[in-house]
Amino acid sequence: MRIISGRALAEHPRPWPLGSLSPCVTLSFPRVPARVSEAFILRTYPLQEADLVVSFFTRDQGKLRGVAKRARRPKSAFGAGLERLSQVRMAYFQRETRELVNLDSCELIRSQFGLVSDYRTGVALDYVAEVSDQLLPAAEPSEKFFRLLAAVLDDLRAGPWRAVTYFSLWAVRLSGWLPELHVCLGCGSLLDDPQAPERAFFSRGRDGLLCGDCRRTLAAGGGGELSLESRRAAAEMLRTPVAQLQPRPWNRETSTDLRRFLVQRIESHIERRLLTAPLLEDNF
Ligand SMILES: [Zn+2]
Repeated sequence: MRIISGRALAEHPRPWPLGSLSPCVTLSFPRVPARVSEAFILRTYPLQEADLVVSFFTRDQGKLRGVAKRARRPKSAFGAGLERLSQVRMAYFQRETRELVNLDSCELIRSQFGLVSDYRTGVALDYVAEVSDQLLPAAEPSEKFFRLLAAVLDDLRAGPWRAVTYFSLWAVRLSGWLPELHVCLGCGSLLDDPQAPERAFFSRGRDGLLCGDCRRTLAAGGGGELSLESRRAAAEMLRTPVAQLQPRPWNRETSTDLRRFLVQRIESHIERRLLTAPLLEDNF
């Protein structure tokens, strides 16, 4: 592109007819100044020899995708900052006409490297990154989702199960797909009457829960029971920050049914299976 400076213009005969657009408009460069956003890295994949495409979730611009030139070379401007779920300050250029932004460099705020030494927690990181990348719409900021990620990554340091269950519940809730957990979708009866709590069932093809009666006539396959204990855990999680939940011994068996129900909700909305969910639960 030929750049015409102000001085050159002044000395030049006017190369455009009077009344038309000035060259400042016709030659305006569509590249806006560098932006710096706090972000979590969601996913990277190779592009050409040394470059990476990076999906990252910024606090102020929502989920963006960009190209990190030469990121796979030693001494790149990105260092170890592009590991999944690293919290970074990302510098980038956005062009209005392009879907991909150009990544300039990133500064690491917090690495999740310490979590990877435990296999299950490493898989939990993969799961959190995959679900976030799948659920978050492009270029829509969500302060609540950003804070959810920060809180869950903190909590993962205490082990994977509570953090992953809390994350799944809130990720579905913030996406607008969490049904009422105390009402039967078939007949509208209350499932959590304290005097006589009902059993509750879910199935892959239905968004909400069914009571025992409705399940016999309405249930599709691929589901199970959502225990009263798990429904109570979910209710507590919906009103309490993860760090302040009642202490419980958490292991893989704790609230497995709730995670299965939530994974089904996610999968039915994104219309594909999550790759990391079976790895997390050893359910190949
Ligand atoms: Zn019912």
